Amino acid sequence: MFKQIDLAYDKNALEPSIDTVTMETHYGKHHAAYTKNFNDAAEKAGLAGKSVEEILGNLSSVEDEALRRALRNNGGGFYNHNLYFQTISPDGQRAPEGPLAEAIDRDFGSFDALKEKLASLAAAQFGSGWSFLSADKDGKLYATASPNQDNPISEGTGRIPIACVDVWEHAYYLKYKNLRADYIAAYMALIDWGIVGENYARVTG
Ligand code: MN
Repeated sequence: MFKQIDLAYDKNALEPSIDTVTMETHYGKHHAAYTKNFNDAAEKAGLAGKSVEEILGNLSSVEDEALRRALRNNGGGFYNHNLYFQTISPDGQRAPEGPLAEAIDRDFGSFDALKEKLASLAAAQFGSGWSFLSADKDGKLYATASPNQDNPISEGTGRIPIACVDVWEHAYYLKYKNLRADYIAAYMALIDWGIVGENYARVTG
């Protein structure tokens, strides 16, 4: 049984950057629906005992096309939102440290350059989708964008996402309307780079 992560903060704790009503619908309705539909599809596919990473990384083994699509969309929605809500906090560490900081400098030139890249990828994503910071087993970092609920795992890159920006309109439209770039800046300012560093250590460990 796949479970949404428990929020480590109250739904009103990210005000004014992320408003309470958006948190209630995004986490309580959208993320909850992806989770339920993913559980249903995984059950139907006989994959309920697998990890979400295993399922998303082996979609081609699911022969039924509708079921494969359901796993990709809802498994991605389940996974991506867990990461999205896990990696922000009202009072987190606002810059990377240690091995993650070193890898960011090595692969992007600077922390500011990475933030600029993640933000511009998110802003430029046409329609619904995400930008991701991901890492491979050797610790190399990648900033990319994906449409819909895809991610570097379901795209078969072998990389694991460690931070993300959701640019589906449900993530920001209630408060920011068409001002996607303002939402992106507000979300990214809430990222807890200590948690992202823990994610990075898990991928490379
Ligand atoms: Mn979303």
